[in-house]
Amino acid sequence: MKEMETKMIYFTVNGKPEQAEFSVDCPAQDVKDLFRSAAEAGPHDILKLYNPKGNIINISPNLEPNHPNSCYKLEVVASDCNNEPLGVELAGALGFDLSSMEKRLQGLEKKILFEAGGTPAVIYEMKKQVDSFREKLESVEHLSWLGLYKDLSEETHKPSPFYHKRTLHKTKEECDHVRDKFLKMCSLEVSEEVRQYLKTPTFDNWQWEDAEIMVLLQVMYADLDFIAIYNIEPEVLQQFLFEVYRRYNNIPFHNFKHCFCVTQMMYGLIWLTDLRSKMDSIDLLIMLTSAICHDLDHTGYNNAYQINARTELALRYNDISPLENHHCAVAFEILEKTESNIFRNVSLDLYKHIREGIIKCILATDMTSHNEILNKFKSILSHFDFTNKDHRDVLMMILIKVSDISNEARPMEVAEPWLDCLLQEFYNQSDVEKLEGLPVTPFMDRDKITKPSSQTGFIRFVLLPLFIELANLFPCLEQHIIDPVRKALDYYTEMEKALEREKQTRVQCEKAAKSKEMPVEQQSIEPKAQ
Ligand code: 5GP
Ligand code: MN
Repeated sequence: MKEMETKMIYFTVNGKPEQAEFSVDCPAQDVKDLFRSAAEAGPHDILKLYNPKGNIINISPNLEPNHPNSCYKLEVVASDCNNEPLGVELAGALGFDLSSMEKRLQGLEKKILFEAGGTPAVIYEMKKQVDSFREKLESVEHLSWLGLYKDLSEETHKPSPFYHKRTLHKTKEECDHVRDKFLKMCSLEVSEEVRQYLKTPTFDNWQWEDAEIMVLLQVMYADLDFIAIYNIEPEVLQQFLFEVYRRYNNIPFHNFKHCFCVTQMMYGLIWLTDLRSKMDSIDLLIMLTSAICHDLDHTGYNNAYQINARTELALRYNDISPLENHHCAVAFEILEKTESNIFRNVSLDLYKHIREGIIKCILATDMTSHNEILNKFKSILSHFDFTNKDHRDVLMMILIKVSDISNEARPMEVAEPWLDCLLQEFYNQSDVEKLEGLPVTPFMDRDKITKPSSQTGFIRFVLLPLFIELANLFPCLEQHIIDPVRKALDYYTEMEKALEREKQTRVQCEKAAKSKEMPVEQQSIEPKAQ
């Protein structure tokens, strides 16, 4: 019988030399498994094999045989996690799970406390180690691919006492803490000064912690007379606001503070344009509530990602605005519960009207319908009629859209940290897209965009054209939302130029340094530095 032909492949893994032998007709999966076990990698890990030139080569039965002195290099890159939360999957693959480790420790501590009457030093030490490990995973930027990295900029003003325990979804402990604080504060009188300040786009969200933000949202319902008109019981409004707070996730941008900013801008626009004298209060109620609910349970990955990664949401909503459909569905999940249904005292017909309005407004925040909505608005502007329902519907969509992307209309010290948060969420998505081999969303790619380049384009092509049309209907908005956006455009244009100059200087310095190192005869064929 003919002896089976085999191949010998030499490679290193973690600097250690290894060799693999397999027959030429060995199934591809077996070859992959062979390398996987050599790297001691889990079933979800991504393996990369490099040839001596540094190029990635395919791990397959067709691998070119080599010699020990021309070793390939095998690397385990990361866990290939399609499901969220990313960190939990990866943690599983690495053989640990931080949350369950913490739970086990807690249980152990309780038991020992009960039996021994005190926490032994050894348990205390273990707890400290687990805490510091979690802190490391959450705070070191270059470990952000683990999916556990948490942005601190949103917390710069007031760090949450639960920072070390933060997960994508808020923990019960975190919620209970904020709820207690909110319930203690919610019957306190908010000063007239704050009530007036709350009506302006200069309001600084960073000065307020989450429980206080909930009180401010309550003030908005009271001062627009919704509580009186729609007979909203204080406890029901509080429960609604708490559920909303609970269902916004701990992510850098699309979090509860973003929900507040969008709602507060909507509230400001209502007052600045004196909308109460032009529209029914029911439409204002729809707009304010839509703003509050518009990003519920956002996980930090946009629709493009949902669709490309074929997530549960994309499958459920057939790729049609998966996120916005979900935000809206979560809103009505909250409103389905009697104890948090702020519309429970309105008639069935009115509830139907509110539901239709909220769905329309939240779905309008999908930026893929941006041009369609803006064009519709432009076409009715010259003969806009507040008594026409179709006209009012388009205006409501425009108002929520403006509020949703209005950070740059705020003072620079309020707006700039928001951009850092947005970019952190963007970069995280594009990093994950790269890791998972999905199409990389260009405006999120850290190799392609910078802080100023992301803003100049967005302001010129999206913000200003939208804001200008709204100011055509309400000229008084010019000074409140257009002027600050123009200022921001100047600021980021200057920053972009400065970055460009810095880059050119660096290139020139590098060229100069290179030519100094080079022998004279070679320098003559190098193009001269300008
Ligand atoms: P969202 O409904 O997701 O909160 O807002 C719509 C989208 O508009 C955001 O996901 C983001 O892509 C974009 N966006 C909002 N504000 C800004 C901004 O200040 N700069 C840039 N570059 N994009 C923004
Ligand atoms: Mn939003």
